[in-house]
Amino acid sequence: MAGQNRSYIRYLRYALQAYIVLFLGYAGIEFHRFVGHFIAGSGAAVNTAQVLGSRPASIEGFLPIGALMSFKLWLLTGIFDSIHPAGLVIFLAALLMALLLKKGFCGWICPVGAISDVVGKLGKRLFGKNFRMNRYADYGLRSLKYVLMLFFLYVILYSMSPMVILGFLGGDYYKIADVKMLYFFTQMTTTTLVSLVVLFLLSLVYRNFWCRYLCPYGGLLGLLSLLSPLKITRNEEACIHCRRCSGHCPSLLPVDSTVRITSPECTGCLTCVSHCPAAGALDVSFAPKRPVQPLVFALLIVVFFFGSIGLAKLAGRWESSVTYQDYQRVIPAASELAHP
Ligand code: SF4
Ligand code: SF4
Repeated sequence: MAGQNRSYIRYLRYALQAYIVLFLGYAGIEFHRFVGHFIAGSGAAVNTAQVLGSRPASIEGFLPIGALMSFKLWLLTGIFDSIHPAGLVIFLAALLMALLLKKGFCGWICPVGAISDVVGKLGKRLFGKNFRMNRYADYGLRSLKYVLMLFFLYVILYSMSPMVILGFLGGDYYKIADVKMLYFFTQMTTTTLVSLVVLFLLSLVYRNFWCRYLCPYGGLLGLLSLLSPLKITRNEEACIHCRRCSGHCPSLLPVDSTVRITSPECTGCLTCVSHCPAAGALDVSFAPKRPVQPLVFALLIVVFFFGSIGLAKLAGRWESSVTYQDYQRVIPAASELAHP
């Protein structure tokens, strides 16, 4: 069987991840400036539209719990959250991507996944390998993210009525949920700092520790991805059993001994496909022998994600409706505002 080199697909993914991490880093700095404007409160005349326009809506992607609430509200009442609409748009895009393109959001878009990946690679350099949990500990820990996911689904989707959600989304606390998230990083408590250091160390030793064991968002996307028509598919006739696919799979899946990867752990990262040296042996496919070119899969992810954002902007569902006067009132009090 002819050899092949598909390493370009890996570099394409790294480039997209790097772009998103850098973009969000920049957005974080801009948002810090935006918040600083209201803390400083000079009293001088300002162009309020310009100040509001400087707020990067993309930071709302870090508010998935609020997005889950507004998702339920939207489903049951048709009301689309206008306080953090970008958070809901990103959440909807991630859900739809999971239904069509595996956990493409985790593998290609999520900045936490990208950073986790880099830390895991750093660990491999330091220790010469990434360690693997004992099989039973691995199963037990993997279930943690589903327990967390069920907790949030129970509290929000089952227990909270639309009226309660509406009350929460209309309150001051939700208006500055993004500011609270900013303070989580800029005004770190000792507990937060220790937790992040522990997570960093665990991710050095065990690749993708957060994603594999703790992320409830990833757990939800993984379960939805079971319905995705696209799956990593191995062609036994073309496979030369080199085991490179399994050796490089960040989700530790036994790709070389499976025909079709149905696991909710598969992020659709295509690392396995990019390392496979045998043409026609490993693809992302609708069904055996109905492959999709890896480049087309990558383009679908880009078009789907950024297309959703573009459509949301065109439909006026991206920028927050919180007014300058509201921000002026609630941001200086953000540290004192407690969860209702
Ligand atoms: S099976 Fe392939 S696509 Fe799925 S997580 Fe492993 S390397 Fe990524
Ligand atoms: S499918 Fe896996 S084991 Fe088979 S040739 Fe490709 S990388 Fe090697």
